Amino acid sequence: MPKGTIGVTTNNIFPVIKKFLYSDHEIFLRELVSNAVDATQKLKTLSGAGEFKGSTEGLRVTIAVDKEAGTLTVSDSGIGMTAEEIDKYINQIAFSGAEEFLEKYKDNANAIIGHFGLGFYSAFMVAKKVEIRTLSWQEGAQAVHWSCDGSPEFEMEDCDKAERGTDIILTLDDDEKEFLETARIEGLLKKYCRFLPVPIIFGKEQEWKDGKYVDTDKDKVINDIEPLWSRMPADLKDEDYLKFYHAIEPMQDDPLFWIHLNVDYPFTLTGILYFPKIKNNLDIRKDRIQLYCNQVYVTDSVEGVVPDWLMLLQGVIDSPDIPLNVSRSYLQSDRAVKKISTYITKKVAARLEEIAKNQPEEFEKKWNDIKIFIEYGMLSDEKFCESGLKFALLENTDGKYFKLEDYRKLIEGEQTDKEGNLICLYATDKEAQYAYIKAATDKGYDVLLMNGELDVPFASMLEQKQEKMRFVRVDSDVLDNLIRKQDENKPQFTMEQQEITQTLFKSQIPPVEKAEFMITFAAMSPDDKPVVITQAEYMRRMKDMARFQPGMSFYGEMPNMYSMVLNTKHPLVQKIVEQAEQALDAELKPVNEEINATQNVIKALRDLKKDDKPLPDDKKKELEDNEHQLEDLRKKKEGFITTYAAGESRVHQLIDIALLSNNMLKGEGLDRFLKRSIGLLK
Ligand code: ADP
Repeated sequence: MPKGTIGVTTNNIFPVIKKFLYSDHEIFLRELVSNAVDATQKLKTLSGAGEFKGSTEGLRVTIAVDKEAGTLTVSDSGIGMTAEEIDKYINQIAFSGAEEFLEKYKDNANAIIGHFGLGFYSAFMVAKKVEIRTLSWQEGAQAVHWSCDGSPEFEMEDCDKAERGTDIILTLDDDEKEFLETARIEGLLKKYCRFLPVPIIFGKEQEWKDGKYVDTDKDKVINDIEPLWSRMPADLKDEDYLKFYHAIEPMQDDPLFWIHLNVDYPFTLTGILYFPKIKNNLDIRKDRIQLYCNQVYVTDSVEGVVPDWLMLLQGVIDSPDIPLNVSRSYLQSDRAVKKISTYITKKVAARLEEIAKNQPEEFEKKWNDIKIFIEYGMLSDEKFCESGLKFALLENTDGKYFKLEDYRKLIEGEQTDKEGNLICLYATDKEAQYAYIKAATDKGYDVLLMNGELDVPFASMLEQKQEKMRFVRVDSDVLDNLIRKQDENKPQFTMEQQEITQTLFKSQIPPVEKAEFMITFAAMSPDDKPVVITQAEYMRRMKDMARFQPGMSFYGEMPNMYSMVLNTKHPLVQKIVEQAEQALDAELKPVNEEINATQNVIKALRDLKKDDKPLPDDKKKELEDNEHQLEDLRKKKEGFITTYAAGESRVHQLIDIALLSNNMLKGEGLDRFLKRSIGLLK
């Protein structure tokens, strides 16, 4: 019986295989089945070339476990091997720089296996003994039995084998007995072999008979030998795509769209990508695209191959051109991979553009579901953004959809401000911002609805890309200021009136959690609301951004600053202010006189300081005293106004109504408002 030593330069490779590859033991099955599939494919190739004259019908790979014998066997009806071939392909494994390489890639079983062509030897990860029984396709070939118990020595002898092909028989290690369990093997076959191009058989189909499941005569085929992505798009119907989707994503709703990738130059790539229907944010997972190499499952981590934002999609990609046995960082810098990634992006963009153009209604109907993908893509991928500008939609508060270009045309006339900026008004909540939306639409403006997670960052991006386009939320200022068509109307209140009014209102605003108010004035129309609350656009965006970006939590902590804007043209506001002025006149007159006098003294003292000389001590003291006095006087003035304001129920009512229409009036404040309102009915 011929014996030999396996030709490796590293003295004993098997302990190395076991030691380094422990985490990925299960892939031995993928390797052996892949070899078996290759052997059958090669026979087909030989047949195609006219070298093999027999039939290629019924080519198959069979996996069997024998619990008693403790063996797992992978059999194929492929080309088989002669003794010379075993010697050449199995015994002489070429190693170069083995130790160095193993050290470098010790955590990456795929890399080691691929580099050494160790596919077959991965069997030693789980087996204490590996045997090959094989009969070559060549005429008059002698069947060979090869066996190796894990040391670098092997035995090889002639044997009897009637059928062409190869059996690989593993006698499993004691601590690898899990691979004798039918369920475990079936699970692995489903994971790795589900779409292999040759029937993979494991056991028999079962049927229900006499109260239990029993084996039938029919072989159980694990795989679909012609998966959808390998077929021509022209031959496929929507149902086919849906059926395939549900086969790979059993728990999901129907997808929104799909894209069939099919290219063979300058690289080969096929696949189908689905836009899933996302029910909530928890659904967003990034490991939903499976990567195959000639129908052999490789991984579901496609980082680097697929642009980051597309990893929200689901489906499969199959390409023999993606180097599988390299590290991730290498993958990302690989030129072929970059090309693939660019190609996929382009394809996705083209498909979306096509749907938007040819099935606009369909596209609009699904826009709200896909916009998260598209906005994310446009925000993170410059190239995709360019195409996206052509098909991305804007939705207005009436539920109408517009392409960017069309929207621009729609609002150009009414919503261009005096600087020529196109002002897009938007609301984030149709109910809560109803009053503002109504005011804007009454004026003939259009209001967009931007209530998606990424809508506001998306709007910021559009502002950068689209010339002179600005987005402002309807409640971020009073309407005339949002789209300023002429120079600002000067509020018509005197300084004194403004001062009184500010205290009049500010002193009566009930506490609102996490909010601070400033009283401002605007000369709106007498028909507009007397008091409105606004929050500056930049302020809100800062706060929104703080939610997304950890480093900006500072902004998130700040209270919200709001403006309570008084309409100086509104008759009620005018009346309240005039009456307050009159009623307070007697009290305020002497205080105002004192304030004036004190201010004059302060001014005179400060003037002394002019030529940079410090004030003499007595003057310094006098200045400080006067400053304190001024402060006290102002407080006194405020005190008078506040006392008056406390009894002015119209001020309370106006404030509360403004708060109420912004959903800010709650608890005690709301209760008081209701009681006061009933009181007013009397
Ligand atoms: P690789 O498949 O990467 O070449 P392997 O170590 O898995 O490396 O296999 C080495 C060689 O052994 C294969 O290229 C093939 O020629 C031969 N071989 C392995 N398994 C089979 C098989 N089931 N039938 C025929 N030849 C096989």
